[in-house]
Amino acid sequence: MQKNIPEVEELIKLISKLPGLGPKSAKRIVLKLINNREELVKPLASKLAQVYKNILRCKICGNLKSINSNCTCSNNNYDQICVVENIADMWAIESTGIYKGHFHILGGTLPSFEHKNNKNGLLVDSLLNRVKKNSVKEVIFALSTTTEGATTTHYLQDSLKDIEVKTTKLAQGMSVGSEVEFLDDGTLFSAFKNRTKLD
Ligand SMILES: [Zn+2]
Repeated sequence: MQKNIPEVEELIKLISKLPGLGPKSAKRIVLKLINNREELVKPLASKLAQVYKNILRCKICGNLKSINSNCTCSNNNYDQICVVENIADMWAIESTGIYKGHFHILGGTLPSFEHKNNKNGLLVDSLLNRVKKNSVKEVIFALSTTTEGATTTHYLQDSLKDIEVKTTKLAQGMSVGSEVEFLDDGTLFSAFKNRTKLD
């Protein structure tokens, strides 16, 4: 590839910031794009512009929403909420088919210490509000089995203790250190199915 074409170099830099891609794969992607201007560059550019303009994260549930419509979380006919760290985790659970209910996407985990004061912009308060407002019966914690995930589950469970709601978490079939997103469907399905009640 010719060097010193700033647009190309900048595109490679941007693409190599995407998850799972290094500079080498970014170069291959950019070449593929340039060689397919009409089939790839044009629709991709327009799709990206549309997504930029129309798609946001909902400030209440953390899910993606279109700027032109209400988020599904504003429908208050639900009695279960599954709490996950990120959207990829939600997609992983959805793809197992075991749960069709509502999700709450925290946006990450709390740091292990000092978590009481520093929620790092996570959607914690809005979770509590959703649980209260919709008379939710069960909150399912589907967080990573890392220290941060466990700390976060514990903190959230504690924050919910004055609200009458059952709290559960995924079963121990998940080995320590697992992130929900990377579990295979079978493991995730059974961890979800055999979820345990928190005291
Ligand atoms: Zn929402």
